Amino acid sequence: SVSGGGGGEETNINVVVRCRGRSQREVKENSTVVVQADGVKGKAVDLLLGPNSLSNKSYTFDRVYSQAADQNLVFDDTVKPILEEMLAGYNCTIFAYGQTGTGKTYTMSGDMNETLGMLSDEAGIIPRVLHQLFKELGIDDKEHCVKCSFIELYNEELRDLLSVDESAKLKIYDDASRKGHAATLVQGMEEKHIKDASEGIKVLQDGSLKRQVAATKCNDLSSRSHTVFTITAYVKKANNQGVDDFVSAGKLNLVDLAGSENIQRSGAENKRATEAGLINKSLLTLGRVINALVDRNAHIPYRESKLTRLLQDSLGGRTKTCIIATISPAKANLEETISTLDYAFRAK
Ligand code: ADP
Ligand code: MG
Repeated sequence: SVSGGGGGEETNINVVVRCRGRSQREVKENSTVVVQADGVKGKAVDLLLGPNSLSNKSYTFDRVYSQAADQNLVFDDTVKPILEEMLAGYNCTIFAYGQTGTGKTYTMSGDMNETLGMLSDEAGIIPRVLHQLFKELGIDDKEHCVKCSFIELYNEELRDLLSVDESAKLKIYDDASRKGHAATLVQGMEEKHIKDASEGIKVLQDGSLKRQVAATKCNDLSSRSHTVFTITAYVKKANNQGVDDFVSAGKLNLVDLAGSENIQRSGAENKRATEAGLINKSLLTLGRVINALVDRNAHIPYRESKLTRLLQDSLGGRTKTCIIATISPAKANLEETISTLDYAFRAK
């Protein structure tokens, strides 16, 4: 991660890796384990391809979780501190990045069901954030106001997962009222006011179901689309006339990205692949934006994709970003695992 810089501006990008256990299929196909994390919550991940392999390699990150790290550990260790930053007024974003089938949705949403108001052990980040948020805000809803939105981005088009009108397409435009760090507004986007965690979870469940229904009709939607669940908290504060007013505390974007196999690495400019729609523009641009922020470039290419435009006021400047890169331990996925680790490593 990088921090510092002049003028009160700072870039803070946290990069963590989560390696799941082998899937039933990987076990059945005898795909051996070639990826090893240095403990439940360590810092290194090693590629172990045999005692004399030149491909053996070690990467270090802010955090590396082995398959023994459960949902609760990932939440406590990585997500809770970010929630605190959000409540302190920062715009924050958590991305799940990785090959399809490695655990992005498991990590972000996991089991979304509540039993008597309690979450399951398999609950992912979003349900846990909702529970923790309302625990911290307290029960007095006259002192705070929480809203959430849920958007899907596919083929550079936005769809509102909370809208009753299935076909409504959303439009992004610049927020002219904002000076300095530019922001964008999404025209027509639903923002649901939630008064407790259960209402937020209902929003997540309903939107996820809508996405699933659409995914059964459209083959590659689930691997090629991104979802962005955004929570905005407003807290009561005296304004400059001494009158109580709701002001935005911060925003937390929880992003389940398209499968990283949808990026063409090194040959990113490959024209034929672009024309065939094989490159996910938003995924590619996100990588460029993050690299430009890490390198402290003067120009950050936010405008080059819908995802980075959508998240513009939550990336760079006074914001916090966390990338959770999910990987498989099996040899059969080694090539994609290396690509994921390289992408994540460049974001450090
Ligand atoms: P993705 O969203 O990246 O395509 P999923 O989250 O759907 O992947 O995960 C694929 C499968 O692996 C699911 O059945 C999920 O429950 C399981 N899985 C992923 N990560 C873990 C993990 N850390 N522990 C247990 N099961 C996992
Ligand atoms: Mg998924």
